[in-house]
Amino acid sequence: MTYRIIEKNNVKYLSFDAFEKLGFIKHGFSTRVGGVSTETYHSMNLGRKTADDPLNVIENTKRFCEATGININRVVTTDQVHEDSIRIVTDADIKDRFSLISDIKKIDGLITKQAGIPLMSFYADCVPLFFVDTKEKVVGLAHAGWRGTVLKIGKKTIAKMIETYNTKPENVIVIIGPSIGKCCYEVSHEVIERFNINFTDTSNFVVSKDKGKYMLDLWMANRLALKEIGVLNRNIITSNICTGCNLQLFYSHRKEGKYTGRMASIIELV
Ligand SMILES: [Zn+2]
Repeated sequence: MTYRIIEKNNVKYLSFDAFEKLGFIKHGFSTRVGGVSTETYHSMNLGRKTADDPLNVIENTKRFCEATGININRVVTTDQVHEDSIRIVTDADIKDRFSLISDIKKIDGLITKQAGIPLMSFYADCVPLFFVDTKEKVVGLAHAGWRGTVLKIGKKTIAKMIETYNTKPENVIVIIGPSIGKCCYEVSHEVIERFNINFTDTSNFVVSKDKGKYMLDLWMANRLALKEIGVLNRNIITSNICTGCNLQLFYSHRKEGKYTGRMASIIELV
């Protein structure tokens, strides 16, 4: 196992062994267990853009932050637009109050070298990428749905860490969190065409089915893009949890439709 499920005050979240060992970060990936939302959002919906009651989303976020030991008032989020821009986060981004609306627009990746700044982003099938530069002590998150994956947002996050913080890719650990697996992710020819343009060889992560449909392995596509910039294969750790196959623990947009909740990734240097 590369992770364990921690339960605190009925809130369940994932903690990754490779990050726990480092001793200088707080982190977690939420599940749908332990919150107050009802019906299709049952129960730990953290999604701001959902039709759930905002008061429930705020209460759920408080619970997740309490469980992971994070100060909710310092949390930095973005609007997540399925693109590939990365933002360097500093103290200036902290508002000292929690808000469901982020001032940081058109950003899908966040990095920081400052302690005490929790970065948070949201998912229901899209791939959560967590980054830690173990030598320079830099942390980051990136939101990689198929669009972010085809744009190689993980590789671009590493590039930004190199440029900004003198990161060496071989010192970076990347965790690929729970998201839609190749077992459940059928896509059209149009999606695969985009991958064929940006990747030299898609045979390792695309399986052709009949009627112009394909099964897409986003975990492998992200791994290959990260290796292109020098992240070591052994330092790219996949949780191997498909959200579509584990609806007791996770929300899945693919399996449950648009009226479903969101999980969140969180990471902070301490
Ligand atoms: Zn699956």
